[in-house]
Amino acid sequence: MKLFDTHTHYDDDKFNETGRFELIENLLANEVDYILGAAVNGETSRFTIETAAKFSNYYAAVGIHPQNCGEYSDRDAAICEIEALAKSPKVKAIGEIGFDFYWEDNPSPEVQAFYFEKQMALAEKLSLPVIIHDREAHGATMDMILRHPNVIGVLHSYSGSAEMAKELIKRGWYISFSGVITYKNATRLAEVVPTIPADRILVETDCPYLSPVPMRGKMNHSGYVKYTAAKAAELRGVGYEDFVNQTTENAKRLFGID
Ligand SMILES: [Zn+2]
Repeated sequence: MKLFDTHTHYDDDKFNETGRFELIENLLANEVDYILGAAVNGETSRFTIETAAKFSNYYAAVGIHPQNCGEYSDRDAAICEIEALAKSPKVKAIGEIGFDFYWEDNPSPEVQAFYFEKQMALAEKLSLPVIIHDREAHGATMDMILRHPNVIGVLHSYSGSAEMAKELIKRGWYISFSGVITYKNATRLAEVVPTIPADRILVETDCPYLSPVPMRGKMNHSGYVKYTAAKAAELRGVGYEDFVNQTTENAKRLFGID
């Protein structure tokens, strides 16, 4: 089975106990064919690059997450560091970047916009796709995307409407679904899943967060992406194997992996 978990955070402290590298090795041997590591700041960007050097089918993203952009005193130096890291050979995307207006103590929308804007420009300069985090910020995220027509990427753990997805797809973008689609209360989101064209849909865990049903409440890892894929295939009325092959093909196309 050729699953591609397109969004993971194996640097997270929750993996201290399991032994993160043993876990990744085991997952790549038995559960999934490909893993992409998302970063949230300079330190985690270095983690994804170091991990990519250890495992042939683990690929890296580098970037500064909207909730982490308050960590820096020198904004331009922070972006320069990401640019330097992005030139590493197994870096396949800038991410995760975007807007998070959910938490009150997040960096201000202005600060978030500075980092989002600069990293979209960086993606264009380096011809890399982006991985977007959009929480309670659909309008602002869409405006940013429209201002950068030469950049494509994926909206990860998608939570927007079918209309927004349609606009993104028209512009060459991809939509990734996490375990949230397996949750009982996600009826609106479940209705979006079948509307995405077959060649633009991806699956992810966002581990260690967002464990899909029936593993909800347990620590998530890439081995559980199969539950999300199975749910998406069911919602779309297609076979599981065909869906898995298609989503893996899509991820490889977006991230430029042969
Ligand atoms: Zn993430």
